[in-house]
Amino acid sequence: VTTWQGRNITVAGLGVSGISAARALVGLGASVTVVDGGSSPAHRERADSLEAEGISVRLADAETLPEGTDLVVTSPGWKPTSPLFAAAAKAGVDVVGDVEIAWLLRGPDAAPWLAVTGTNGKTTTTQMLASILSAAGLRTAAVGNIGTPIIDVVLSEEPYDVLAVELSSYQLHWAPSLRAHSAVVLNIAPDHLDWHGSMEAYAADKGRIYEGNRVACVYNVADKATEDLVRAADVEEGCRAVGFTLGTPGPSQLGVVEGLLVDRAFVEDRHKQAQELAEVGDVQPPAPHNIANALAAAALARAYGVPAAAVRDGLRAFRPDAHRIQHIADVGGIAYIDDSKATNTHAAEASLAAYESIVWIAGGLAKGATFDELVAKSAKRLRGVVLFGADRALIRQALARHAPEVPVVDLDRTDTGAMLEAVQEATRLARTGDTVLMAPACASMDMFTNYNQRGDMFAEAVRELGAASA
Ligand code: ADP
Repeated sequence: VTTWQGRNITVAGLGVSGISAARALVGLGASVTVVDGGSSPAHRERADSLEAEGISVRLADAETLPEGTDLVVTSPGWKPTSPLFAAAAKAGVDVVGDVEIAWLLRGPDAAPWLAVTGTNGKTTTTQMLASILSAAGLRTAAVGNIGTPIIDVVLSEEPYDVLAVELSSYQLHWAPSLRAHSAVVLNIAPDHLDWHGSMEAYAADKGRIYEGNRVACVYNVADKATEDLVRAADVEEGCRAVGFTLGTPGPSQLGVVEGLLVDRAFVEDRHKQAQELAEVGDVQPPAPHNIANALAAAALARAYGVPAAAVRDGLRAFRPDAHRIQHIADVGGIAYIDDSKATNTHAAEASLAAYESIVWIAGGLAKGATFDELVAKSAKRLRGVVLFGADRALIRQALARHAPEVPVVDLDRTDTGAMLEAVQEATRLARTGDTVLMAPACASMDMFTNYNQRGDMFAEAVRELGAASA
């Protein structure tokens, strides 16, 4: 049991997660100082309200460790190389994140955690899992990297049976004592390497999710790196490695057989080799990567003992969040799809693979990515491409190398209004039966506030187009 009374805790960052951690720890009797490099009026305002609650705040210095600190709590966005953490290491002070605090704060009859990470598909899979658990009559919530800060969930009076927990690689990096009931790494592709330093460090942080698992380590059969992480993990005795695949499942796997999701890992009836769970058509949208997400969610639910019928009901009840392969409208025989959440090449590749004849709207901030593989794999599906955003030249050059025959319209714009022109140009390139897919493979912040705004602007442009053609 961890005692918080009388401890001197420094919280890094005056954001949502830092404030939630500071309040919780003060409530438990710790002395808390929040440090932040900013000093704007907005920072001062937040600082004033925290100080009124007995929390010290130090602004305009993100680097020096306050005297007497015996634990540092990080916030997302703070790099492991931040000087504050170097100072903590030098002073022999531990650094942990909000997930670690939440884990340590759970009571003795706390709900077990079913944990989800991966480069792409985390939110979708976690929400599918929560939907399945609810369909089984269990009291649950989708938490972690989603919605309410996890510390608040753990400290709430709400009685949960089991939690569906989405974890980012950052959160895992700073959660050394977390031990999930069961966990999955959905996939590993290069992303956020600027934060983690290298692909190896990124993969190792994701692999943390398997450490100490009790029942099942779920991995992606098509992504060997995820299986390697399972093999490297130190788990409880009896914990099983369970694969998911879009092909026919082997023993101890979940997969797809003739349009059915099938479980060969957790079969209740010992006279049967496989348990049918649901139809592929029960999963929305039924794109291949999303079937994989559903299988991963089903595997975790089954590891927890959920019956097949609840898997089916939970998948049927699930609706994806906005901006994730969201069908906006059909106008003049052309389908318009918003996948604004495709903020990296791996995600865009998944949605490009889900359609046959595509006019692709792409571009934005590349975050150090290269586009050759994505373009080479998707070239034969492209009717045309419309580009905008700061790093559009990288995509244009990859198209010139791998898809020279595909018509490309480079809007040469980085303003928000470019979305309307992009939709108009895409419509010009499209033929009846085609899909106009906005899956930018890039972050949005060069042109938009965030991916939500980018998606909303796309939908608005499509509506304008529909109104004009009606
Ligand atoms: P995350 O929470 O990991 O960012 P989301 O569930 O929000 O993931 O999905 C983000 C985007 O990633 C989606 O819009 C889709 O383009 C893509 N995606 C979802 N699942 C997968 C998957 N299993 N493999 C590859 N790409 C995926």
